[in-house]
Amino acid sequence: MKLSAEILDLRAANDVFRIARGAVTAFRVVIVRIEHEGAVGLGEASPSEYYHETPETVFETVRQAGAILGPDPFLLEDVTARLAARFPAAPSARAAIDMALHDLAGKLLGSPLYRLLGLNPDRTPATSFTISIDEPEVMAERAAAAASRFKVLKIKVGTDRDLERIRAIRRVTDLPLRVDANTGWTPEQAVDCIRRLAEFNVEFVEQPIPPGNPAALRYVHERAPLPIMTDESSLTLADLPALVGSVDAINIKLMKCGGIREAIRMIHFAHAHGLKVMLGCMLESSLAVTAAAHLSPLVEYADLDGNLLIAADPFAGVTVAEGRLVLPTAPGLGVRRRASA
Ligand code: MG
Repeated sequence: MKLSAEILDLRAANDVFRIARGAVTAFRVVIVRIEHEGAVGLGEASPSEYYHETPETVFETVRQAGAILGPDPFLLEDVTARLAARFPAAPSARAAIDMALHDLAGKLLGSPLYRLLGLNPDRTPATSFTISIDEPEVMAERAAAAASRFKVLKIKVGTDRDLERIRAIRRVTDLPLRVDANTGWTPEQAVDCIRRLAEFNVEFVEQPIPPGNPAALRYVHERAPLPIMTDESSLTLADLPALVGSVDAINIKLMKCGGIREAIRMIHFAHAHGLKVMLGCMLESSLAVTAAAHLSPLVEYADLDGNLLIAADPFAGVTVAEGRLVLPTAPGLGVRRRASA
């Protein structure tokens, strides 16, 4: 197998995407390409400095990974286990390679990924659409614009004026809201804010407090009147045992966990322990979002809108119809590069 990588420059739609932990304007992703017997598999890494990766570290990991892929793209468990052992701190780089291998395997077999995984494409969930932090009236305007296309909105909070923002959005739409504080509150603030949010038809609250403290999550969970989901606290399978009983649900992202195979392990662990699952994403193109979407028939919730939050998506794949994810049916991920990209 021949492995290569390319760095692409992307921009956030509306010029900026702001959450409690910071803001993104321009950013870079790494596109991974694996060639084998005339077929080409593609994957994407959207590295985050919050998780200690950059486009440069991803590029270097991919360069070194070529030597340990081996000759058989169907030995997915073996290859991804070798990658995890060799590059434990490079989850988005491994996710890109894992995605490219699954794309390649599907193309070699002439089968879309969901079919290869035995999943029913009619069971995809609705995806939320994210409204990032801005002035309350700007957030309300974006929520109103998205309300006709989506069945649920995800609202970024975790700063001062959270309630003002939610009230502004509530004035323009009755859709259920998911709220994501991105670690922005203390446990006491979280309990207080979530008690106030309970009257606004909020489905759940994501990552109210910083990661690394399951006891504090339990404190919030026991006192807050809405379901609690983790994201920054639930990176890989190894993080999950400590969360059982302390939260209601977890958000799994390929870029955090290292790829499709680890995500599937996490989904089954979570369900076995009574946790619900959302598949989420970073700001990333349709390439990576489509890879996650192929797993979505396994989960209760999807927040797979990263491709809709960037300007000039270089790829086309999964789409949204009446709020629900629609999987492409072409072999592998079913993603194609747009002519202009
Ligand atoms: Mg989140």
